[in-house]
Amino acid sequence: MKLIFRIQRSNRYSLIPLISAVKDRMKDVQIFLAKSTQEVLQVEPPAVVAYSFMSFDLDDISEEISHLRDMDYTLIAGGPHITARPFESLKMGFEHVFVGDGEENLVDFLKGEKKTVFDGLTNRIDLDDYPPFCPELDLFMPVEITRGCAFECAYCETPLIGGKKPRHRSIESIVHYCKIGLTKNRYIARFISPNSFGYGSTDGVRPNVQAVDRLLFELKRIGMKEIYFGTFPSDVRPESVDNEILKVIKKYVNNRSIIIGAQSGSKRVLEKIKRTHSVETLLKAVDTILANGFIPHVDFIFGFPFETDEDRYQTLELINKLIQMGCKIHAHTFMPLPGTALERVGSAIIPEWFRKKIAQLSSQGKLDGYWEKQQTLSQRLIGR
Ligand code: SF4
Repeated sequence: MKLIFRIQRSNRYSLIPLISAVKDRMKDVQIFLAKSTQEVLQVEPPAVVAYSFMSFDLDDISEEISHLRDMDYTLIAGGPHITARPFESLKMGFEHVFVGDGEENLVDFLKGEKKTVFDGLTNRIDLDDYPPFCPELDLFMPVEITRGCAFECAYCETPLIGGKKPRHRSIESIVHYCKIGLTKNRYIARFISPNSFGYGSTDGVRPNVQAVDRLLFELKRIGMKEIYFGTFPSDVRPESVDNEILKVIKKYVNNRSIIIGAQSGSKRVLEKIKRTHSVETLLKAVDTILANGFIPHVDFIFGFPFETDEDRYQTLELINKLIQMGCKIHAHTFMPLPGTALERVGSAIIPEWFRKKIAQLSSQGKLDGYWEKQQTLSQRLIGR
């Protein structure tokens, strides 16, 4: 059987675990990676073409599959948009869709199971049962150490896609695959987690300091040259920051920054977006990060349609305070993602006066992020 994974810039981290699962379990499947429609067409049908995409890529994907639908390709899809809108996606022309965890269901499909909707929301996998990346095809990515998030931030798709119970990859499994990575000159360890400091804990919140210490110690012991933890491409929750966890990671890591989510300076907005922490908790976490010699990179989300000018002033006040304390600000624009509690509140609204203030901080090098580009994406999501 031929299986074509349709690789895009935005879906590598979704597809690599699936490619790894197929490579690991289905030796007789021929895998192709296509970076464009033309590359799909270079593979002689019959073949299965697998998509994984975000809601703002819907139009491009729709256009692409309209060309493939009438050929002898079996079109299948999973990922964030499909998980939020499985039945609408079938109408686009996909024959089989995969919601939630995809690894086990994709393997079952390739073995011959023919469901229309494969349910990976109730059938959750154990991360240890599957490789985090695919050394055979030289496809590497940060190791996903935790899937699922105990929080329910109203703008975020993660609890829907990964579930509300954090599932951790074991230290043994992480070290095993990092050792394989080292044989391919992968000397830098990075991780994916909804909350890095929650690694190994039962609630995903209170740090399991012993587990993090042992994980990072083992990675150093096997020869990992650089370790980045609590930073890109993951962040940490304010509630999970304490002296103990910071002192432990400081022994091993190369990052100088810790990425932490604030999202708003307004108590009212924090409540509406269900962040469940206060501005005070955030400030305490920032103090602790600074006291341990790290630079806090603090995430904010602008443009919630229900924000008032009063909320915006409070956010600016907090941003200015954090900058004075020595933080960097990382800015995002709100996106009404399908499947989230805020999917129907409308696209982002950023008044001109607020945009000017943010642009000024950006030009002074105090704030970065793709917040301007995300404004366009936010508009594109309406009606998805
Ligand atoms: S924003 Fe972070 S903490 Fe909140 S639900 Fe999403 S992954 Fe979890």
